[in-house]
Amino acid sequence: MDHLWSPWRYRYVTAGQEPKPECVFCDKWKASPKTDEAHLVLFRGRSSYGLLNLYPYTNGHLMVVPARHVARIEDLPEVEWLELMRYARLAEKNLRAVYGPDGLNLGFNIGKAAGAGIAGHLHLHALPRWQGDANFLTVIGETRVHPEALPESWRKLRACSWVPTGPEL
Ligand SMILES: [Zn+2]
Repeated sequence: MDHLWSPWRYRYVTAGQEPKPECVFCDKWKASPKTDEAHLVLFRGRSSYGLLNLYPYTNGHLMVVPARHVARIEDLPEVEWLELMRYARLAEKNLRAVYGPDGLNLGFNIGKAAGAGIAGHLHLHALPRWQGDANFLTVIGETRVHPEALPESWRKLRACSWVPTGPEL
């Protein structure tokens, strides 16, 4: 029975300290709003927030993230889902106003197989697109070109109105 006796494991269990996986989206939500610029946080709602993508596909590439650490849309309470969608709508509006794109991509990658970089915490990508930008990116392969620096993107998008409208949630 030796193999069942592992005091270190016993201490670990009784201490109730199942280590939570580190999550950058949880960390930034819990951080002081004073650190928003450093964290590229654009707005904070009641149950979700927005921030710039550190590795943008295009200028203005942002993400809307639920405060709750869930991996699936189905695990979000209805009210939190609705708030997230209201911010998605504002993301469309504000990206259009700031960047004047030809189109936009808004979407979720759910699970690693679908391309989620941080699969444990749901997030909605929103990015402006221009006619021909994909062709250009194909030509340059892995290299992503960003004429606009992230702090500049942050200043422009942070200055937008991020107050959702609609019936009280
Ligand atoms: Zn998280």
